[in-house]
Amino acid sequence: MFTLIDLPYAPDALAPAISAQTLGFHHGKHLQTYVNNLNNLLPGSPFEGLPLEEIVKKADGGIFNNAGQILNHNMYFTQFRAPRENNAPKGALAKQIEKQFGSFEAFQAEFVAKGGSLFGSGWVWLSADDKGELVITQEPGAGNPVRKGLKPVLTFDVWEHAYYLDYQNRRPDQLKALWAIVDWDVVEKRYTD
Ligand code: MN
Repeated sequence: MFTLIDLPYAPDALAPAISAQTLGFHHGKHLQTYVNNLNNLLPGSPFEGLPLEEIVKKADGGIFNNAGQILNHNMYFTQFRAPRENNAPKGALAKQIEKQFGSFEAFQAEFVAKGGSLFGSGWVWLSADDKGELVITQEPGAGNPVRKGLKPVLTFDVWEHAYYLDYQNRRPDQLKALWAIVDWDVVEKRYTD
């Protein structure tokens, strides 16, 4: 049985980038539904009892869709903290971003552009390959870069349910606002672990 993760901050902690209302629906309703769906689909399937990431790597159909959405949202919700000014990575991840993208600002621009141009519902991801090289990918639906052998470190949700109450059709505005609340300590740890 999988369970809904607890949020590591208060419901209003991420405002104005993500309002308490959006967080309530996104975490309490959408993610809860994926958890319930997966728990209903797993019994008697070949994936019963496997860790979530293994299910995401191997499954297809409804089991993949719901497991992927749980893994993606667990990573998404646990990579945020209260807004900070001049919020930016430090350490090994910051160095690698500068090396590959030229600057943190150039990286942010490319990440937002790829999230903005993803057609329909999905996720934009920053991942590392086995040499520590960074790659930005667009993943439709419940896609997660672990299926490509990559290590995901940061993701922005571009499903409309992630931003519509606060931003309506203005997806790029939501993506830009998220930079203030990224917990770079968490993202850096995912990169260096
Ligand atoms: Mn979502």
